Amino acid sequence: MSHKKTAQPKHIPRRMCIGCREALAKRSLVRVVRGPDGIRIDPSGKASGRGAYIHDRRACWEKALSGALAQALKSEISKADRDALENHMGRLDPGGEQNPDPAPSAGGTA
Ligand SMILES: [Zn+2]
Repeated sequence: MSHKKTAQPKHIPRRMCIGCREALAKRSLVRVVRGPDGIRIDPSGKASGRGAYIHDRRACWEKALSGALAQALKSEISKADRDALENHMGRLDPGGEQNPDPAPSAGGTA
């Protein structure tokens, strides 16, 4: 009686979305990296620096930009970087989440 090991399914690298904290295949996530010039979206996924992954869902970006990203990257997010990230977020599909009042943050604290 021989015990054959069942073939493992092909390993899919997973990363945690900092918005909803679900582990997802990397292709569903956008990598954001803290590089020497600030915080950037890293479409290649290969830029060096501390990175964080955010789901391509608007709700997760909103959460990320309201604190989770700064925490994950251990860095403040400059106004310019935030603008760029919000611009990216604005192009995402709201993804079926009901969000009738997006409440744009009017950057209060100076
Ligand atoms: Zn998410």
